Amino acid sequence: SREWQLIARPVGEPKDSDFRLVSTEVADPGPGEVLVRNTWLSVDPYMRGRMDDVPSYIPPFQLNEAMTGGAVGVVVAAGDGAAVPVGTTVQHFEGWREYALLDGTKVQPLDVTLAPPQAYLGVLGVTGLTAYVGLTEIAPVKEGEVVFISGAAGAVGSVAGQIAKKLGAAKVIGSAGGPEKARRLKEDFGFDAAIDYREGQLRAQLKQAAPEGIDVYFDNVGGDHLDAALTRMNLFGRIALCGAISAYNEKERPSGPAHLSNAIGKSLTLRGFTIGHHMKTFPEYIGKAAGWLADGSLRADETVVDGIENGLNAWFGLMSGANTGKMLVRLPEA
Ligand code: NDP
Repeated sequence: SREWQLIARPVGEPKDSDFRLVSTEVADPGPGEVLVRNTWLSVDPYMRGRMDDVPSYIPPFQLNEAMTGGAVGVVVAAGDGAAVPVGTTVQHFEGWREYALLDGTKVQPLDVTLAPPQAYLGVLGVTGLTAYVGLTEIAPVKEGEVVFISGAAGAVGSVAGQIAKKLGAAKVIGSAGGPEKARRLKEDFGFDAAIDYREGQLRAQLKQAAPEGIDVYFDNVGGDHLDAALTRMNLFGRIALCGAISAYNEKERPSGPAHLSNAIGKSLTLRGFTIGHHMKTFPEYIGKAAGWLADGSLRADETVVDGIENGLNAWFGLMSGANTGKMLVRLPEA
């Protein structure tokens, strides 16, 4: 079995030599254990934070050990008394390897009649839940409002745009990198207006897209996007601080948004959240999302990279915008 290990803690932008792909022996499952052949690995921005040895809501990767992360796979062997039989499709957190040996209680069997298994790493998993919680609990959208979403063509952002419409937003504006993504925001994901931030002039583009101002901003990017949004927020506007990917690879912490004090005059609410603290909303969300997927009213795209050997490049690609929708690594089923 091959697995990805972090071997050096990156300073600023990670490089190939900070990682290695290692072959290891696969042990037989002991009592209560299951051996899972991973078929899908989740590729996520938060992995950058785990490469640093700093206290966080999730522990850092250990050097010279397999990295962890969300994964889906099939149980191929089960030890005595294991609760999950061979052949079950399961989700777990021992990704970044071809085979995972786990305690049977650490895997979650998936209902594959609802959606293909990898959907549980994206639209039917924390990705989709993050979009939903952000727009219903953190920065609730009201009927007729104007919503702005950054990182809009990504996994969370593309779902968030569609959920904002379902919640009754009058106008949903998305920002993403490049003309093709901007086109897809409108044609594929139902955004009313799209900004290609790589064109520059973000504030001017936002003003043009939202002359009436913004009521809710769902922030995946931080930095220039958060500052531009602060210049356009309406009275009593709400900002959900979901991610700040523009700064994840910075060596120094960026200074705060220049227009933060607009929050005072406009009585804004800025609220951060980590989805792990909001899992109680999962049953409500999955009920709705499964219905939306079934009736075809929610589109969840995936960008798939094949092979464990290409896993690291998939992550580098995610950080530089190679994906539309959820970035996944697919491993052979047998
Ligand atoms: P995405 O699918 O959105 O992938 C990341 C995207 O970020 C890329 O496709 C790229 O798109 C964009 N990006 C990269 N660098 C920049 C930059 N400098 N400026 C603007 N955009 C940039 O990932 P996810 O949907 O998984 O995550 C989206 C955000 O949500 C991240 O910030 C993540 O950390 C956060 N998150 C937070 C959670 C929480 O609990 N709070 C849970 C899950 C995710 P482009 O081509 O448009 O540049």
